[in-house]
Amino acid sequence: MNKGIVLRNLKQVNGEAIDIHIDDGMITDIIPASKDQGAKEYFNETGLYVSSGWIDLHVHAVSEFDPYGDDMDEIGVKQGVTTIVDAGSCGADRIGTLFTDSAQAMTKVFAFLNISHIGLQRIDELSRLEWIDHDKVIKAVQRYPEFIVGLKARISQSVVKENRIIPLKLARQLSSETKLPLMVHIGSAPPDIREVLALLVRKDIVTHYLNGKPNHVFDQHGKPLPELLAAIERGVHLDVGHGNASFSFQTAEKAKAAGIGLNTISTDIYRRNRLHGPVYSMSNLLSKFLCLGYSLDEVIEAVTSQAAAWLNKPELGGIVVGQKANLTFFALRSGRLALLDSEGEERIADHYIEAKGVFTNGALITC
Ligand code: ZN
Ligand code: ZN
Repeated sequence: MNKGIVLRNLKQVNGEAIDIHIDDGMITDIIPASKDQGAKEYFNETGLYVSSGWIDLHVHAVSEFDPYGDDMDEIGVKQGVTTIVDAGSCGADRIGTLFTDSAQAMTKVFAFLNISHIGLQRIDELSRLEWIDHDKVIKAVQRYPEFIVGLKARISQSVVKENRIIPLKLARQLSSETKLPLMVHIGSAPPDIREVLALLVRKDIVTHYLNGKPNHVFDQHGKPLPELLAAIERGVHLDVGHGNASFSFQTAEKAKAAGIGLNTISTDIYRRNRLHGPVYSMSNLLSKFLCLGYSLDEVIEAVTSQAAAWLNKPELGGIVVGQKANLTFFALRSGRLALLDSEGEERIADHYIEAKGVFTNGALITC
């Protein structure tokens, strides 16, 4: 535990400069900045921003899994992300191991339970209906009630094969029985995206909604499908889930032009797309949204308060006296940076975000 440290002259995204006093890992005071040098003793530079700890709602955190896996802290605290949510790497067979491993990480970890008990041990995990084992799902949810925040179903052709929409219908039943929302991965048809959207209810998440595949949520004229607008109206949540194949600048531009606001920005990060792109890091992804013309405020909200609200954990989404310090420090740099989407398209940013560190679990960790 760091005793009695003061982080001086940090900017909030609203422009306010503050000093944050932390004692035994708790925020004991927040005061207007003392015009001191800033927290130079910790970061070797001044002028940094602070927000509540970033939350990544879609990652793959099982280190042994190839291709969809990585180390928790590599995709967490070392990237400025204090909370990650594993998006269905594990089904009932392996969720216990993920839970146990998460206790060793500096990053806070939650999970979506894959409705297929084999999880991502195969990448066609919903191609056989016997892998959706009702009793195994119910038992896992009962056993890890705090850890499991939702159910994951990957509803695209390569995963469901001939089962088409049936796995989503089974997921819907499991969702009402467990009272847990669904995170639904969308991609190539069948099933048709309109059939998928029609089955989603308030609090469910569509991840990969900005993908550039033919079966996406915009029509050929770039207008949002009526089924998408109806889903948003019902309270369905939109999540980016960039990944290797699921983020297109062109689709994101359509969404922005149609006035579809940001809910959560998540990476769908795993080792390969972290090391070789196109994801690289949460900072890189957030910079893509700045480049698209969203404000710093909107972008940071999408990885802090918006994600915390979805998780029903408002304490993770603010900087509040009397609460545990859960903070991310970052710089807003000027300069050209080439940004790459999943379709191989490039945009050149003239400013970008760089994560500098976090304060979590009573410790300051620099990136
Ligand atoms: Zn996916
Ligand atoms: Zn994923």
